[in-house]
Amino acid sequence: MELIVAGNREDLVKARRAGTVALVPTMGALHEGHRSLIRQARVRADQVVVSIFVNPLQFSPNEDFSRYPRTFDSDLDACRAEGVDVVFHPAVEDMYAPDRQIAVSSGEMGRIVEGAARPGHFDGMLTVVLKLFNLVQPDLAVFGQKDAQQLALIRRMVADFDLPIEILGSPTVREPDGLALSSRNRFLSEDDRRPALALSRALRAGAARLTPSEIRRTAMAVLDEAGPGLEVDYLALVDPATFTEVSESYEGLAVLAVAARVGSTRLIDNVTLTLNPA
Ligand code: AMP
Repeated sequence: MELIVAGNREDLVKARRAGTVALVPTMGALHEGHRSLIRQARVRADQVVVSIFVNPLQFSPNEDFSRYPRTFDSDLDACRAEGVDVVFHPAVEDMYAPDRQIAVSSGEMGRIVEGAARPGHFDGMLTVVLKLFNLVQPDLAVFGQKDAQQLALIRRMVADFDLPIEILGSPTVREPDGLALSSRNRFLSEDDRRPALALSRALRAGAARLTPSEIRRTAMAVLDEAGPGLEVDYLALVDPATFTEVSESYEGLAVLAVAARVGSTRLIDNVTLTLNPA
């Protein structure tokens, strides 16, 4: 099947075939992490739509919207290689009318942890995801566990807005040295890589401990060891559904999440662990 590139709703309607549709939303600069999401979508649905859209709404004015990598031609090659049916690549002007008014609010959950570090980010993210859902009308959508709070907020939006879409989470794909793949990793210099590796090392060290206080302390110690090349934004041990900090007696799945700056590049990572198993 030839890969179809769609730019608007009309193109999407024409490209739609009978059967189930899976959507994989991305901002492009596709890597193995995106490709693992696409493969999961392929297994689960008859038709796979990958959206490639760098969403200006989720970047604040001091963030890297204009610098964000755009590699559309090689993204198309990756999509062809993965058997994607449709790439949805709208123009910013087609997504956002100049007189637009209404946006999604991510609520309190969107203002904590990553949301506290990036005010407005999750409102912009949910707004574009809701628009993508309405344009593509998928039966299911696949998101990476790499952006764990994003995944939790999308599940919350689907529940709160009664969206008839199944949400699948997909495990984080890493380099052999532990660094989580990210479109922003291309900005890391050779010298940046060493402090960058402290994120995944801290998460692994933390996850090997048993209690919330030990987990936080151990992970923070590893981040501190990385020295001034690593500027930590936050380290949080949270309930995966609400992203609120867990108490010492919490039982069940938890997410240990970190964000840090290495040079001019901001990196995030997380691991899921089980606390106080019975
Ligand atoms: P992005 O293009 O960065 O907006 O990411 C698009 C989707 O790919 C999101 O659902 C991300 O969580 C997911 N993703 C990004 N990096 C990874 C990774 N290393 N492993 C798995 N999924 C990822």
